[in-house]
Amino acid sequence: MSENWNKRTKLVHGGTRRSQYNEVSEAIFLTQGFVYDTAEQAEARFLKVGEDEFIYARYGNPTVAMFEDRIAMLEGTEDAFATASGMAAVNAALMSMLKAGDHVVAARALFGSCLYILEDILGRFGVEVTLVDGTDLGQWQAALRSDTKAVFFESVSNPTLEVIDIKAVADLAHAVGALVLVDNVFATPVFSRAVDLGADVVIYSATKHIDGQGRALGGVILGTKEFIRGTVEPYLKHTGAAMSPFTAWIMLKGLETMDLRVRAQAASALAIAEALQGHAGLERVVYPGLQAHEQHALTVAQMGEGGTVLSFDIRGGQEAAFKFLNALKIAVISNNLGDAKSIATHPATTTHQRLPAEQKVELGITPGLIRFSVGLEDTDDLVADLRQALDQI
Ligand SMILES: *Cc1c(COP(=O)(O)O)cnc(C)c1O
Repeated sequence: MSENWNKRTKLVHGGTRRSQYNEVSEAIFLTQGFVYDTAEQAEARFLKVGEDEFIYARYGNPTVAMFEDRIAMLEGTEDAFATASGMAAVNAALMSMLKAGDHVVAARALFGSCLYILEDILGRFGVEVTLVDGTDLGQWQAALRSDTKAVFFESVSNPTLEVIDIKAVADLAHAVGALVLVDNVFATPVFSRAVDLGADVVIYSATKHIDGQGRALGGVILGTKEFIRGTVEPYLKHTGAAMSPFTAWIMLKGLETMDLRVRAQAASALAIAEALQGHAGLERVVYPGLQAHEQHALTVAQMGEGGTVLSFDIRGGQEAAFKFLNALKIAVISNNLGDAKSIATHPATTTHQRLPAEQKVELGITPGLIRFSVGLEDTDDLVADLRQALDQI
């Protein structure tokens, strides 16, 4: 029955487990462990954990399980494993499935910490990583080999918002037997069709739109029962990056309102991008939902809408960008995204500071570039705030 529910219903009711008190709102099971009726029961549970049984919160917890079931139902995967942060999810998905001698192909335009795992950590353990321009299918084709075990990419890149064709990359990867792992944060679970398009594993930082209110760190890995329980769970339950039950409760309540929030934010992002397009103070406005975006057709096919983040390049480089940021009255200067509060980020000096200058150029992270995560404030107020800050330059 629940498989036939539409997304909004799944987000409110999916995965709910009620205690003997039949509470309406999801209970927080703030417990690390569980009591067994008998020694025999403890022995049996350590041998095999049943559907609704728990041993220790590092392995699983009822509140965390509710979150995992709800998000898996939404994404359309068989199972999910919740983690302490988005990076714990990316790390665990890769480390649990790879071994020395394996080969991975990844898109170069990645969140800084994802790049660190791929470039620095995996190499230390003998995994070879080839980085490609994710929008160039020829480069994917050329990099894939018979020993390629996985491909990894962000379906919409940060902060330049290039859209990677999930279906085309998945077809190429599957042809050599590689697993397709997609970090889908910028697409959001609301607009995701990643599994339909061929992704085998979908990863979210729940810190972003799932919480959506800037309160907690979290992450989730979604995939087949075999991958989640057979590959990911043994790694995570013994290495410890479990999501806390309290965080799982925050994320569950976040999911209830996520569809409404993300759709409102995306509508606002489009209106803001349209309002800023052609502004004399800007070199360019980048938003995948704009007709003018080079990959607008792919965006519509893959996500339906352009998401909740836009970028723009301010004329006058870093000095002008800083003046602009310092003049904002509503949007805050920070580095999260998907929050109820609009957030402006200067990637070149913050999130992507670590990158060598030539790599910044290659990725389009110019000195004037601002990443703008659209919140839930009134759209007209946001446009007015951005305009007045641009006027201050
Ligand atoms: C934020 C983010 C992460 C990391 O998530 P945390 O919850 O901060 O650990 C990974 N990938 C992308 C694309 C992100 O935006």
